[in-house]
Amino acid sequence: QQKAVIIGAGIAGIAAAIRLAVKGYTVEVYEANSYPGGKLSQFEQNGYRFDAGPSLFTMPQYVDELFKLAGKNAADYFGYQKLDVVCKYFYEDGTRLSAYADTKQFAKEIEDKTQEPAAAIIRHLANSRDIYDITNHVFLERSLHRLKTFLRWDTIRSILRFPQIDPFRTMHKANLSGFKDARIVQFFDRYSTYNGSDPYQAPATLNVIPHLEHHFGAYFPDGGMYSITQSLVKLAEELGVQFKYNYKVDEIVVINSVAKGIRAKGEDILADVVVSNMDVWFTYNRLLSKHPKLHPKKILSQERSSSALIFYWGINKQFPELDLHNIFFSADYQTEFDHIWNQQDIYHDPTVYLNISSKYKTDDAPEGCENWFVMINVPANNGQDWDQLIATARNHIMNKLSRLLHQDIGKLITTESILDPRGIENKTSSYKGSIYGTSSNSQFAAFLRHANRSSKAAGLYFCGGSVHPGGGIPLCLLSAKITAGFVK
Ligand code: FAD
Repeated sequence: QQKAVIIGAGIAGIAAAIRLAVKGYTVEVYEANSYPGGKLSQFEQNGYRFDAGPSLFTMPQYVDELFKLAGKNAADYFGYQKLDVVCKYFYEDGTRLSAYADTKQFAKEIEDKTQEPAAAIIRHLANSRDIYDITNHVFLERSLHRLKTFLRWDTIRSILRFPQIDPFRTMHKANLSGFKDARIVQFFDRYSTYNGSDPYQAPATLNVIPHLEHHFGAYFPDGGMYSITQSLVKLAEELGVQFKYNYKVDEIVVINSVAKGIRAKGEDILADVVVSNMDVWFTYNRLLSKHPKLHPKKILSQERSSSALIFYWGINKQFPELDLHNIFFSADYQTEFDHIWNQQDIYHDPTVYLNISSKYKTDDAPEGCENWFVMINVPANNGQDWDQLIATARNHIMNKLSRLLHQDIGKLITTESILDPRGIENKTSSYKGSIYGTSSNSQFAAFLRHANRSSKAAGLYFCGGSVHPGGGIPLCLLSAKITAGFVK
């Protein structure tokens, strides 16, 4: 039986393990941490449970697909429910919007509360669907590094419709010409942050993202986000995959341009297939440092996505006006992004994302309390004075939430934990603490992401948010699918 070793038990590493086990491989997953999931992990503190990283769950079909592939009934392992309200939005001018999943209800909500006609929303979402239909097969579900992809009829049809995906102007410019109400421009510009990009630089192709929320929907896993990791690890173990925790890999062994295995804890572990789920930048710079000729220098010099600063707060009160996902917009989005991307610091009025899983999973917080995951977008780690930036941002965030919720939030915090770009980098080996690998600020970004296999070392493969097709849970799951598709 052939053997595969996987470096990292991030969500893509786990999915790749399942797919290779189904193919008949003996699979071992080597994970540096004492737990699986990488960014998709959880922790508990003083009676509160927090999902540490991702909080928005879309495209659950890619999780279900793994159970089906293994001949199991997904619902026996993993349950989730669709959200009627995807997110609540709060503006500094007092406007409050509920983004209903149902398109008509959502468009009506916007027409009722802003100057934007419902028809403009319907039109925008139809455009979003068109971009999805054109790009999905080419950019998401298949390898861009395989001739076969480009010889397919649906790819050729997509290429002929290429101008329709709007790659030559920025997302902000497109939204500015599509909407007359600045609040709605800001609303749709925000989707660029779903892959850590900047709406003032990223191509309007990213206007595909609202389609994922408003067509496919947003979901809440019954057991919280971490149950995605738990259920897939359970499936993998049932398929015979062995997870080795606290097992940091130091080297990928390559002889005569063939990956022969890995080196960890001073031992060589031989394998027919090596899959790195570790950030591709660190894979080359740490695990393949002896092989500079293998390094794809241009790809590794790509701009990184933004990072995040998160305050996990136990809150001694419940807020009926809040939902699972809440956004508190900055009054000046352009200046906020200028700080993230050009000044590389934190704007004094950042857009705040507040996730409260105890709204759905009540035992995530003690009775009468809520578990707040409070996140802002921040630059990747370039050696800024984070302690100083965090202290200042904490005050600004607390003032903003207190102002918009008419409560002194500082007085309600009973427990706190903080994650910043340095922590993200250390905990998951993500270069510069970027949360989505490379940024999508250029229209060529999709083509410059690392492929799912090495073109220079046979037997070496890659999956996860830093390689094709990109970051976020659904794309990471697709990356594992493309990777496994390469393995014979
Ligand atoms: P990672 O999670 O990056 O894991 C890689 C694993 O490899 C880690 O466990 C690490 O310990 C291990 N590893 C690294 N080096 C070694 C080594 N040398 N030896 C052994 N093991 C090693 N996505 C969404 O879809 N929705 C969201 O709402 C969302 N929000 C996010 C919020 C935050 C704060 C963060 C951080 C991310 C968010 N994301 C979101 C992105 C999503 O979490 C990631 O794209 C995805 O989880 C990355 O998975 P991955 O498979 O690339 O691996």
